[in-house]
Amino acid sequence: MYYINKFFSEVCNQGNIENEIHFVTECNAYIDQREALFKIAEESDNKFRSMTNEAKLIHMMQHHQISLLNYVYKAWLIRRNVLFR
Ligand SMILES: [Zn+2]
Repeated sequence: MYYINKFFSEVCNQGNIENEIHFVTECNAYIDQREALFKIAEESDNKFRSMTNEAKLIHMMQHHQISLLNYVYKAWLIRRNVLFR
């Protein structure tokens, strides 16, 4: 049971599996950081907002690596503070 629970996002109560798509495009814990990240993507591609979450993650990895890296760092700090304080 413990191992099953470990796969769910513990920083939000959305009941989602914590995978890369959830971490970058869905998790409620990082809304402010994501807003800044997605704004950058939208400014360079007006179709970004209508993409699926999986397509958004792929787009960010292909075209906005530095911005994505910055997001991951900031979100990871939040995640660490929530889970290991
Ligand atoms: Zn979450």
